Amino acid sequence: MSPPAAEMARGRPRLAERYRAFLPITDATPLLSLGEGFTPLVRLGRIGGDLGLAHLSAKVEGQNPTGSFKDRGMVVAVSKALEAGARALICASTGNTSASAAAYGAAAGLEVVVVLPRGQIAAGKLLQAQVTGARVVAVEGNFDQALRIVRELAESTSHPITLVNSVNPFRLDGQKTAAFEICDDLGRAPDVLAIPVGNAGNISAYWAGFRDYRAAGLSAGLPRMFGFQAAGAAPIVLGHRVEAPETIASAIRIGDPASWTKAAAARDESGGLIEAVTDDEILAAWRDLARLEGIFCEPSSAASLAGIRRLAAEGRVDRDATIVCVLTGSGLKDPKTAQENVSGLLVADPTAAAVTEILGW
Ligand SMILES: *Cc1c(COP(=O)(O)O)cnc(C)c1O
Repeated sequence: MSPPAAEMARGRPRLAERYRAFLPITDATPLLSLGEGFTPLVRLGRIGGDLGLAHLSAKVEGQNPTGSFKDRGMVVAVSKALEAGARALICASTGNTSASAAAYGAAAGLEVVVVLPRGQIAAGKLLQAQVTGARVVAVEGNFDQALRIVRELAESTSHPITLVNSVNPFRLDGQKTAAFEICDDLGRAPDVLAIPVGNAGNISAYWAGFRDYRAAGLSAGLPRMFGFQAAGAAPIVLGHRVEAPETIASAIRIGDPASWTKAAAARDESGGLIEAVTDDEILAAWRDLARLEGIFCEPSSAASLAGIRRLAAEGRVDRDATIVCVLTGSGLKDPKTAQENVSGLLVADPTAAAVTEILGW
């Protein structure tokens, strides 16, 4: 067999196997996979050109199986839950954690219960959980309250249930793999890693990943970690909890982040920052990613680029720095926000002449 054919027969390695040395995986772990990870690092040539940034790229995490980075952590958390004999998974969610838990739970044959803030979940995410068979409980409250409820349930029930929010350490272990991939693609760590911050697990996981990889001698350097919260949901920036977080970026609409301390440490140890971006800045970045680069991410994801744009305008980023913006999830999840921000259809009679006329050619 020629080498390419041999590789095809083997298939690409599973994420948790590729980075097994850094994960809590043993021979006793029943390893799942839906094909997570190995997402592309895409150069943002046009936006970078506009900003005068020579090396700007995006880690497109919407290309994971359920359309967000949550799959990296979920595959490890659910595999470990299986290993521990769990029969059920539970989580609170702004949408993507529940979509991911529901999918991996289905693949593992586990019962899945998700507790969501009612009316605050993007349509695609809610449907993902429902279609894959999770039981969805909508509470009249926000994400922070939903998280408190599932933490309490996971501690008090005699049901063999595993909590799979990012307070589950296996989630953050799995999410480190995105940092490994970036180092593998670049041949070293980037100078700056820009990332949206909600519950603050992901920024913490990336920082741990960059440090682990360097400590193992597999990458050089460490990035400065630049986290961005939405202005209406910016507890870490403000230095206090936000009781009623509000932003169009529903995946980061969180007022009391579970990994607050870890995120602050990532910021400080890396010489980075955590700042707020407005909904207008987020939407402008979201629109430009689609129109100038062809990348349709969800609005929350664009907080990373929105932040870099602000810093570039203020002359606070080095023009020659290697900058990676993490785009955390797929734009297909949130059709409502997209619908509200696109121009209408051009409607014409079914003739070439009518179409020509409406195009103004
Ligand atoms: C979960 C999520 C975030 C926030 O990540 P945290 O780990 O909670 O900070 C950002 N964007 C998307 C699309 C998400 O699903």
